[in-house]
Parts: sequence; structure tokens; C-alpha cells
Amino acid sequence: SQRLRMLKRQMECRSDIHRLIAPLLAIYELLIPPEEERAKQNQLLALLEKLVCKEWPKAGLYLYGSCANSFGVSKSDIDVCLAFNEDINNKSEILLKLADILRSDNLQNVQALTRARVPLVKLMDPVTGISCDICINNILAVVNTKLLKDYAKIDARLRQLAFIVKHWAKSRGVNETYQGTLSSYAYVLMCIHFLQQRRPAILPCLQGMETTYSVTVDDVECAYFDQVEKLRDFGSSNKETVAQLVWAFFNYWAYGHDYANSVISVRTGRIISKREKDWTRRIGNDRHLICIEDPFETSHDLGRVVDKFSIRVLREEFERAADILQYDPNPCVTLFEPY
Ligand code: ATP
Ligand code: MG
Repeated sequence: SQRLRMLKRQMECRSDIHRLIAPLLAIYELLIPPEEERAKQNQLLALLEKLVCKEWPKAGLYLYGSCANSFGVSKSDIDVCLAFNEDINNKSEILLKLADILRSDNLQNVQALTRARVPLVKLMDPVTGISCDICINNILAVVNTKLLKDYAKIDARLRQLAFIVKHWAKSRGVNETYQGTLSSYAYVLMCIHFLQQRRPAILPCLQGMETTYSVTVDDVECAYFDQVEKLRDFGSSNKETVAQLVWAFFNYWAYGHDYANSVISVRTGRIISKREKDWTRRIGNDRHLICIEDPFETSHDLGRVVDKFSIRVLREEFERAADILQYDPNPCVTLFEPY
């Protein structure tokens, strides 16, 4: 019965939760990149376009990731995709050539990582101070970047929640895929799904609506409703504040989510079962200990990087965050304390 009482307390948000609105919004505002960063990014992109175009006149350059999905905090690196209109089977060669071109134009720290999971060239531009990764033909990432950006336009609370969650994850060291924790992309999907699940819902399920945008990339059909200007009022009957949402998000991942059976799916706007996806057992290195379905590559579980050690770290961090938001006198400081 003590456990029941504890659980009950966890379900009821602290009564002074509204006091957290202003400090959480202040943190959010500080994380938003200032306008001059955008100008610098465009300056670097223009330079890269000029260099690439000379060598590969038919190729295009696209921004993706946090510099283009509207979930980028100040001073992020930028992610660029070099897109050819054809399949490329000699990516390494192209990346090495690209690295040469960049070096001879005085870009710094140029490195071709031809054996990485996503092969790429890294560089730093001494003029703008921006670091940049360039990969080849990663069109699905360009398309999922657009999806995230479109979701962000529907309700301002998504960006607020996701910035706070990303900031928490970086501060607490749980945004490191090479250590078995989750990518920023996975955290944003968790936030979108969470807002799709609120009642009344704060976000719709764009892939469940009439198709107004559709592309096929690597045999994957990517289709959804992208006229999001028409959905500006979608979440307006839900009056929850950023403070309540941050509290409820961590409470959900700490005490509400059914890790044994559930998959979160932005594609359907629902929770689906692991059994339905055949994600119930370990296959190769995919353990499916926390399941986050990619909206387009539906066989892809973004939680697959999580192993039996890092799942404990993650869940303990969710519990820590939930408990701090519930009981700590100064949660907006404690929540982000370095680990
Ligand atoms: P950060 O601010 O931390 O750099 P980010 O949004 O750039 O955040 P990353 O996790 O670095 O996030 O990923 C960059 C982009 O690459 C994502 O926005 C997404 O488009 C794509 N991406 C990353 N991981 C995956 C993945 N596992 N599957 C599909 N696309 C991915
Ligand atoms: Mg990035």
C-alpha cells in the first residue's frame, strides 16, 4: 500500500507546477540560436555549393538535422547532404575527392570518415567558426528533417518541450548513441509522439491524414499531410503548459511506459505492440529494450543502440528527472546538473 501511495503521488502533479513555466521558458529562449547564426550557416552553405558545383555540376546540397529541423540549439554543428541524382557505389572515392577540394580551399580539420556507419567528411570553417558534416545521398534524413520541421510549426509547445528534453539529455550524458543512449532525433520523436497522445491531442498524426507531400526514397514511400499552416489551431483546446508537459513527459518515460510490450510510433500516432513488429527478441545487435519506430523506415528501431546497461542508465535518468520535477525545490537547476 505504501507503493500504491507512492504511485498515486507520482500521478498527481505538484500543485506549484505553474512556478516552473517562467524558468523553463527562459531556458528555452536561451537555447534558441540567434538570427546571425542562420546567416553564418547560409554563408558556409553558399561556399560549399560553389566548391561542389565546380566538381559535380549536377549534384545538390541540402541541410538536414538540427540546423534545418528547427530543433537546433545555439552553436550546433551543421549537417549537410550531398545529393546525386543516381545511386552512388563509390562513396569513399567521392568523399576523398571532396575532402581534397575542401582542404585546398582552406577549410580546417578536414577528415574523410569513409568507414563510419554513415560515411562522411568533417570540416571546420575558420571564417564562420562552424563545424560541418557532409554525407552523400542521405535523402531519408532530408525528408525526416522536413517532417520534424512541419510538426514544429503546428504547436509551439513541441519546440519548447524538445529543447528542454535535448538540453537535459546533453547535460546528463544520455544523448550519446555510441554509448548506447539515444540520438537527438529519437528524443524529438519521443516528444512528438507524447504530444500526439495527450487528451485533447496537441499534435495530429500527419502520416494518417490526406497526402499532400509524397516522395519515394530508397524504395520507402514517404507521404504525409504537409499543409501545416492549416493546423495552427490543432492543439488549442488543450491548455497544458510547458511545465505540465515536461513533468508529464518524464513521468511517462519513468513510470508510465510499458517497456516490455510497447513501441512508440509517430507514423500511426499510437502505441503499437512489439509483437506486431516482431521486435520481441534480440536479433543480432538489435535488442529492442526501448522501441521508437522510425516514421519512414518502419523496420528501423531508433532504440536499437540501447543495450542492457544503457537501458538502466536511461530509465534511472527518466526517474531522476520525474522525481526532481515532482519534489525538488529548485527543479530547473537540479534537472540539468552535469552528471
Ligand atoms: P543535434 O542538435 O544533437 O546535432 P540533430 O537533430 O542534428 O541534433 P542527430 O541525431 O545528430 O540530430 O541526427 C541528425 C539527423 O540525421 C536527424 O535529424 C535525422 O534527420 C537523421 N538521423 C539521425 N539518426 C537517424 C537514424 N537513426 N535514422 C534515421 N535518420 C537519422
Ligand atoms: Mg546534428
